[in-house]
Amino acid sequence: MSYVDEVIDLVVKKNPNEPEFHQAVKEVLESLRVVIEANEDKYRKEALLERLTEPERQLLFRVPWVDDNGQVHVNKAYRVQFNSAIGPYKGGLRLHPSVNLSIIKFLGFEQIFKNSLTGLPIGGGKGGSDFDPKGKSDREIMAFCQSFMAELCKYIGADTDVPAGDIGTGAREIGYMFGQYKRIRGVFEGVLTGKGLTYGGSLVRTEATGYGLLYFTEEMLKLAGKDMKDKVIAISGAGNVAIYAAEKAVQMGAKVVTMSDSTGWIYDPEGIDLDAVKEIKEVKRARLTEYKTYRPNSEYHEGAGVWSVKCDIALPCATQNELHLEDAKQLVANGCIAVAEGANMPTTMEATEYLQANGVLFAPGKASNAGGVATSALEMSQNSERLSWSFEEVDAKLKNIMVNICHNATDAAKRYGCEGNYVVGANIAGFEKVAAAMEAQGIV
Ligand code: NDP
Repeated sequence: MSYVDEVIDLVVKKNPNEPEFHQAVKEVLESLRVVIEANEDKYRKEALLERLTEPERQLLFRVPWVDDNGQVHVNKAYRVQFNSAIGPYKGGLRLHPSVNLSIIKFLGFEQIFKNSLTGLPIGGGKGGSDFDPKGKSDREIMAFCQSFMAELCKYIGADTDVPAGDIGTGAREIGYMFGQYKRIRGVFEGVLTGKGLTYGGSLVRTEATGYGLLYFTEEMLKLAGKDMKDKVIAISGAGNVAIYAAEKAVQMGAKVVTMSDSTGWIYDPEGIDLDAVKEIKEVKRARLTEYKTYRPNSEYHEGAGVWSVKCDIALPCATQNELHLEDAKQLVANGCIAVAEGANMPTTMEATEYLQANGVLFAPGKASNAGGVATSALEMSQNSERLSWSFEEVDAKLKNIMVNICHNATDAAKRYGCEGNYVVGANIAGFEKVAAAMEAQGIV
């Protein structure tokens, strides 16, 4: 049996009931097969893949908090410190009722390679809780965040583990968590990223994942002799990534016609009114059903469906496993030329394979959405030197990083005879650096 198959079997056996984690490990290891087979004896002897797929540390803890009626609630919380070979653990905190250990481990595992791809010194980690921020008052959010951080603060720090935002964790939550960390630990340090601009945040961090996604997509199109001008774009999600992906797409001369949230989706053939979406989602924290009051000629549909719309480019920016084989078929039939993932693992493996087999340019999230964590690492640099860089400076660095990731993934795929395959290229480019660092540091 090949080493890759052996480790995939082992991971499934040792981590029962973790389907998302299995999916991520399979996807990564399958695409690394060419590299692993070229060094099979060495890696097997070093148990490199066993070490890579087992987190260095996993923290599971309870978070008790009190609601506005005096009722006590208890949530489960997680921090998975997956791999610190190339730098302190870095990765977001997800607050969503679907959160479980499998989802946090899949995200943490993916984060190792993504962070390596950025070229910056950051290891892989991820955390979160099954707490649902929807419908909670500001005081309830603060109560949860403070209780969450009262425990987490024992295990993180500017040089050890630096969490950030993710689904359900935005500037408000990061602020409450930072305040609590500072209060308990007594240090003002860059322990979280995505902070407000008044206390150590970086310009462009809010926009970074969405903007970075478009910088990557533009470069990928360029390498294929195409461009963004006048392209029709379907986006899913209406959160941080989706909103700023839409903003940059419009700046590049494209037209965004769909967005969605967890209850439904909007179709606006004239082009989405982003100011309206920002007001609904960022200011009012309301549902997209309200969009029709701003744009009476738009359509609102319950449930999922953005991929049924005719588009040139599809950008899934909501959550994992939201673009299935049937959606991929519909996109291909409608003439879609590129799919770039803003979310983490939004496309199922079958859908990815179908898109690639039908000549659609496909950018995996660990490459195309790496702009968020890359800018987080730039925030860490600014915190360390106690300086703030200008918007233009950070934006230029972000663009440069995304263009480099695109080229590094392209080159790595070419080196192993998989030209044009960004999934293989991104995994190989990310893996090579982490593997070399792990080998150099001995058996730890
Ligand atoms: P947000 O919470 O800001 O937005 C998420 C959006 O997706 C919301 O519109 C939400 O709907 C929708 N959504 C979430 N879960 C589901 C679900 N189960 N079904 C349908 N819709 C859903 O999160 P972000 O924009 O920050 O993150 C989106 C994705 O991008 C995630 O996969 C995240 O891991 C990834 N990512 C984020 C980065 C960042 O910097 N923020 C960096 C790299 C990746 P509703 O409004 O109803 O809640």
